[in-house]
Amino acid sequence: MPCQAQIDRRLWQGYLPKVPNRQEQTMRDATPAPACLANGPHVLSIPGPSIMPDRVLRAMHRPSPNIYEGELVDLTHSLIPDLKAVARTDHNATIYIGNGHAVWEASLANTHARGDLVLVPRTGTFADGWAEMARGLGLRVETLDFGNRVAMDPAAIGQRLRDDTAHEITSVLVVQVDTSSSVLTDIAAIRAEMDAAGHPALLMADCMASMGCDVFEMDAWGVDVAIAGCQKGLMTPAGVSFVFYNDKADRARERADCVTGYWDWRPRTKPDIYFKYFYGTGPTHHLYGLREALDMLVHEEGVEAAWARHGLLAEALWAACDQWEAPGGLELNVRDRAHRSHAVTAVRLPERGTALRNWCSDSFGLTLGIGIGMAPLGTLEWDGFFRVGHMGHVSGHTMMGTLGGIEAALAALDIPHGRGGLAAAAQVLAGKV
Ligand SMILES: *Cc1c(COP(=O)(O)O)cnc(C)c1O
Repeated sequence: MPCQAQIDRRLWQGYLPKVPNRQEQTMRDATPAPACLANGPHVLSIPGPSIMPDRVLRAMHRPSPNIYEGELVDLTHSLIPDLKAVARTDHNATIYIGNGHAVWEASLANTHARGDLVLVPRTGTFADGWAEMARGLGLRVETLDFGNRVAMDPAAIGQRLRDDTAHEITSVLVVQVDTSSSVLTDIAAIRAEMDAAGHPALLMADCMASMGCDVFEMDAWGVDVAIAGCQKGLMTPAGVSFVFYNDKADRARERADCVTGYWDWRPRTKPDIYFKYFYGTGPTHHLYGLREALDMLVHEEGVEAAWARHGLLAEALWAACDQWEAPGGLELNVRDRAHRSHAVTAVRLPERGTALRNWCSDSFGLTLGIGIGMAPLGTLEWDGFFRVGHMGHVSGHTMMGTLGGIEAALAALDIPHGRGGLAAAAQVLAGKV
């Protein structure tokens, strides 16, 4: 008996873009499981939004609070030091009601004048998104393209800065973990190159995917501006995002001519009256949710312990993938372990990535992330990727469940793969390797 979801899929398959063989391919891949295992708890393993802890949801389930005095006001003040603890900074933290795109814009608007030149080394699609935002604000963008699979070369960035003798480049925009490729960037190495070049540009880091998961030290690494959102490592429904900035970045605010009142970080950072935190009504329920999430991350587990947890879970995933790897089968997108994220993993599975995802969601109760930015949408190549999100509220149990789903899908779809993926992951989680 096919699951309801499989029946629905057959209906909407008629609307898929017409690509040669696509229909035939998906029908072949839609082999029903012997029974529908998608009933019972469903696990979301996409790279944001991430799994929300029940505690966060419960904290949000309440009537509207008074926004002028009392609990919510105190609670909002209490978020700031904890956010700074996650970003590892003693400088400034500002909360915006908005998603990652909002703080892409806020971070640039507060630090640039129209016509400024920004340098964007890229290892995936998210860097392109930030660059696009810069262009929209009237900035000039120069991209250094390192592709979608390998780390950026800090020396190449250093060379470009040394060549910029007129100091035209005003900032270097670096995505710590590009969520499309899952490449992890060595931000401290880029700061070292900037210092060695004696270049005054700001170093700005997008930590949307990585904050709370991959090691990040804003002050120790000399990052001037860092941005993050709440819906990935911070385990809260999408809707609030953060800009962290130091005094050097705030001095750049003096000449910024693209910032409007709403986006100005100054009144928000040290508000003389509560409503200026958000320039209007605060995101009341998000604040309760975020308070609970920060209690879990900062006060109960501890940021460093959370980094270690994400590291071990990622190692387990890679160990399983190493076992599964086979000709005509899957392969991790990033070969160099040192440059793999602990928050998200992009996997290549030529032609069958979509089929594997579909099987997991329809027949197993597991949603994996689509590949993005690796191939044009609607082509057969596009079907050759998937991503695993392992950020935020993830445990040994959720990771083993995710790996179990992938292993079952490889078997169900007759995708060539080596045996022993789950066993290898268990060894890692048991601390045996
Ligand atoms: C998710 C993400 C963004 C965008 O966040 P939205 O909330 O979707 O706007 C930006 N950068 C990175 C690295 C991300 O992972």
